[in-house]
Amino acid sequence: MSDVLALPAFAALDVRAVMEEERRGASIQVDNEYFRGQELAVDAVETVSSLTERQRIASQSRQVYDQIQIDFDSLTRENLKSASTRYRDLLQQLPEVRYFKQQFSGTCFVIPEWLRTPQRVNYGARIYFFREDDAPAPTDVLDRNIDAVVTGDRGEFEQYQGALHGYPECCIEHFSECERTEEMGPELEAVEPVADHIDTSEISKNGEIPSTSIDTITDGIFESPHVYAFFAREFYPEPDCDQARHRGISIYDTLRDVYPEPVVKDYFRINAGWSYLMAEATTPDTKGSSRPSPGSLGREHLLFHLPLAVTTRLYQNGKKDS
Ligand SMILES: [Zn+2]
Repeated sequence: MSDVLALPAFAALDVRAVMEEERRGASIQVDNEYFRGQELAVDAVETVSSLTERQRIASQSRQVYDQIQIDFDSLTRENLKSASTRYRDLLQQLPEVRYFKQQFSGTCFVIPEWLRTPQRVNYGARIYFFREDDAPAPTDVLDRNIDAVVTGDRGEFEQYQGALHGYPECCIEHFSECERTEEMGPELEAVEPVADHIDTSEISKNGEIPSTSIDTITDGIFESPHVYAFFAREFYPEPDCDQARHRGISIYDTLRDVYPEPVVKDYFRINAGWSYLMAEATTPDTKGSSRPSPGSLGREHLLFHLPLAVTTRLYQNGKKDS
């Protein structure tokens, strides 16, 4: 079962846990930042000749993605549905999507993702990964998303997505029921138990090629049992949740049986750091700031944008430290 080796490491380990039946599904949010991360990571280790193909796929995909423009007249279910059909046709032509479908033996599909903000309706895309015998119909996921956007009830779709990703039910419920105030939301609550172990002064600024290591940024984080709750990217565990921690420990052990332990450790460190930065971005004074740029959590964060096969090899050759 080597088929996740071609996926970017940060997603590959998520997907491996799916294949091992530790979680239901996993996904990659696709946007400009994603493709930029792929290109940046490949450029940073350009000596690896096997990455020429990867570079071509990523840069072609970014060009195609940049040109996609989706319009619809008014916010109705019918309009969003027909816009989604047109959009999905284009997304399916992305070389990145074709590549993943080819490489991955489970079920892989791409669908548009709509998000309603007070000002407008934004769109993006998400590539989902499931075991073949446990995949939802892509149109089901899309229809629920469209319903949520039309009715303005984001919570229900978030809960559904949480279940698709196999997060513990208690954490999903907590996330959707947690009150949002100016100072506190479920994201900030989730990262509070590990916040003391994250040194924000070491986080790289936008666009810099990082010289820092995730070890420095998250020094001592494994002294806290809370780190194990960060077993998935984009997951905000309920604070101090036993279920999340147990699931995380189980995933940690499963992954460690297959991949070098430093890779698995850094996966948890990067997940925690990523959630921390995203949580920070939800506070009022930083609202609207985008997702953490590749490498902001240290050079390992950048290496985790490479195909898992390459990342693992670099760790084994000690390149992680160069
Ligand atoms: Zn929980």
